[in-house]
Amino acid sequence: MTAHSGMKRLLLAMLSWMIAMAAFGAQSRSAQVIYTYHDPMSEAVYRVADECYAPVFAVEDWGWKVQLDRDDVKLIAEGKKITVPIRTVGGRQVIPVKLALEKLGADLTWDDSSNTLIAKSLVNGIKIDGNKLEISSSLPVKANIFSMDNPSRLVVDVLGAKLLDDATISMTKNSRMKQFKPDVVRVVVETPDAQKLAQATSIASNDLTISLDPNAPSVVAKPVGPPPGENPDGTDSSSPDQPGPGQTGSQTPRANGQPGDPQFADLLVDAESSSSVLVLLRNAGALTGPVEFRKPDPSTLDVVLPGAHLKLPDDFKLKTKSVIQTIAVQGANVTILRLTLARPMGAQVTSDSGEIRIQLSKPNVGNGQLAGKIVVIDPGHGGHDTGAHSNGVYEKNLTLAISLKTADALAAAGATVVMTRKSDVFIPLLERNNIADQAQADFFIAIHINSNTLANSMSGSIAFHHKGNDTSRVFAECIQNEIAQISKLPNLGVWSDGKIYQSGFSVLRNAGQPAILLELGFINDARDRARLQTQDFQDGVAQAIVSGLQDYLGNGKP
Ligand SMILES: [Zn+2]
Repeated sequence: MTAHSGMKRLLLAMLSWMIAMAAFGAQSRSAQVIYTYHDPMSEAVYRVADECYAPVFAVEDWGWKVQLDRDDVKLIAEGKKITVPIRTVGGRQVIPVKLALEKLGADLTWDDSSNTLIAKSLVNGIKIDGNKLEISSSLPVKANIFSMDNPSRLVVDVLGAKLLDDATISMTKNSRMKQFKPDVVRVVVETPDAQKLAQATSIASNDLTISLDPNAPSVVAKPVGPPPGENPDGTDSSSPDQPGPGQTGSQTPRANGQPGDPQFADLLVDAESSSSVLVLLRNAGALTGPVEFRKPDPSTLDVVLPGAHLKLPDDFKLKTKSVIQTIAVQGANVTILRLTLARPMGAQVTSDSGEIRIQLSKPNVGNGQLAGKIVVIDPGHGGHDTGAHSNGVYEKNLTLAISLKTADALAAAGATVVMTRKSDVFIPLLERNNIADQAQADFFIAIHINSNTLANSMSGSIAFHHKGNDTSRVFAECIQNEIAQISKLPNLGVWSDGKIYQSGFSVLRNAGQPAILLELGFINDARDRARLQTQDFQDGVAQAIVSGLQDYLGNGKP
């Protein structure tokens, strides 16, 4: 998200909150809600006595579904269906969130000092059974999985959780668990394979199974089912247009559209793991051209289906938290299927005899937070290696100035920053990768300024990733998307380094972590050269790299 839209949203939220506060009277106070592993609710909420009121649709941030009635609202949340009263305050409809959370079985406390309602999931079982660690809880939780050395151990931090006093615990002699922080339950398993096992990423569930088999690091999450006899959207399960579990859309009668046109029931999630989602569109019919896809931004995937007439109901939802919205835009003789992803993901789209396969890959982003991540900033060139130069301006000086600002901005956002050079010295290319590996860096960002043979012939910025590295490509998309918004220079996009050299760039080819190389502009283009030297541009790039990294990390989204 850009600073701009974030600010606008905050202002709007504050404004409506002030109206609501005035209407509620003097006894109400501004508050916050933290629900299990989710970020604090972004909408303004307020406390009246012991209750907490939030705008009705704010709970959709938690993946809940809202059905408005006259005096109450039905919430379909975490596989349950509950009803709470609705109030209209200052023209806004609000609901008692604490009551709703109570009905779902959350552990609730008010932190009076910050006026924050904290809703935790109750962990009622931790079991190590052969090669599996099983964690069950009253509400879906997420686990932050990592390894530690001496002795080698796997650490599973269950976020937003409280250990029940009478939980069913079954541990081995090499494992232990405790309430590590007020909202974190920690399980530690001593194993020589900890590093391998820590590659697994958790998705949210109230039934997590974490593999302790080093040959198959994974987290299996039992999906949160719909309430008995109901589909998650609340429609009758006998409705002919809804495929049931395990049933494919191809068996569904075709109610509308032309014969052979794909129907929404033909669009489904076929497989999901911690690292990927496979979405299938079956019976796509006789398309009149090849299927193409594009990503207008790192979290949006457009699949272009020439000749198709795919219709989706307004409230259509794929059964995965990785895709938050799916719409079909109908053109004259084309349908564009737009998937809005929970966070930036890689995408591959293939088609085979009327079946479209959309493969989304979810980069492993740990806990999804920038704080605590190790970022290497690599200012290009230095010392006798001046890099490109034009009109007395040297690449090595620009890259260092921009890198120092970027390092400050990243540190201010909580990241640990390592620089390959902080002054005008020469560092060999391989040494730059060694520095990153020794620091156990999570990310590598090389900063460069471009140049070409003909002055004033090319302008703009490019983000490079190593050819064939999908994770680094998603990373490059996120950073470039933000740089394009501040640079005031043409956006030349994201490129594979194979486009420049057959073997790619050395610092990208040898990187042991997601790595990008930014060419921020052309030093031998008069307009670029002037812009590259401004504080506005240099500060903008620093902030864009912070925002791009935060986008990539997804803020803990599934
Ligand atoms: Zn360079």
